[in-house]
Amino acid sequence: MFFYNRENVQGKEAKALSIILPTVGCRWRRCNMCSYFEDSPNDSSINIFNIFIEEFNKAYDEEIKKIKLFTSGSFLDPKEVNSDCAKKIISFLSEKGIYEVTLESRPEYVQEDYLKEIIGNNELQIEVAIGLESSNNRILKHSINKGFTFEDFLSSSEVLRKLNIKNKAYLMIKPPFLTEKEAIHDAIESAKAIESIVDVISFNPMTVHKNTLVEYLWNKGEYSPPWAWSILEILKETSKLRPDIICHPVAFGRSRGPKNCKTCNREIEKRILEFSLRNDPKILEYECECKKEWEEELLKF
Ligand code: SF4
Ligand SMILES: [Zn+2]
Repeated sequence: MFFYNRENVQGKEAKALSIILPTVGCRWRRCNMCSYFEDSPNDSSINIFNIFIEEFNKAYDEEIKKIKLFTSGSFLDPKEVNSDCAKKIISFLSEKGIYEVTLESRPEYVQEDYLKEIIGNNELQIEVAIGLESSNNRILKHSINKGFTFEDFLSSSEVLRKLNIKNKAYLMIKPPFLTEKEAIHDAIESAKAIESIVDVISFNPMTVHKNTLVEYLWNKGEYSPPWAWSILEILKETSKLRPDIICHPVAFGRSRGPKNCKTCNREIEKRILEFSLRNDPKILEYECECKKEWEEELLKF
């Protein structure tokens, strides 16, 4: 499977191609909001490299400057993508003249020797994206059950810095057990905590996935995904930070995803995507009647 989007690639807007690789998926599998691994095949004998080549050939055109590889887990976990396959993918992309490739990983698989081994002498820019979610260890442990600490993230960031690899962090907007106001505060504080460490911050507003604790709470009326007003607030507050700030919300305006009201959903989604290319907070200036409801929600404890 593959899809496209437009991104800022080395200072210029360019077309990016995302390819989903059917690996066995994440080894941790215990985050409270995630069930990505349920879509992963249980078959470790699938030839991931062949599938990658097939998808790449179907999707590639010369406008594409960046490739993002998703595995519903960690590309850098050799049990998901073995080292031979990882090496071949990186060499292939380098030979094709791709500027940048993004790989996702949990921090425990960000190992200096392994990265050196799979990158070899290839000169394309590697970006490693880590789902940090929050810089607050209490939220990581009790709201998300992330299975690593902020300090683990800092150690893996050090490895990336040493190897000149770009560091991208995903921060979650509104983990469970937080009020709307606490969620805004957590996202902004987390971004500030990693301002000098990462190159890109990608905010992920929560969507309710099937068979998760978040879905259980949502069904009981004890959780709702964030308001789009909260996303705008977070983006405005972090737009001046050093890293590129991006946000590509999923299921925006749907019952399981972030939203405002029917009148403003489409316009606000458009503005969030536009902001992600230019980081100009003026793009986020917008008003709608439903803002009052959000302001009332912020008063709740
Ligand atoms: S959010 Fe990431 S680390 Fe957590 S279970 Fe899902 S794939 Fe694994
Ligand atoms: Zn509205």
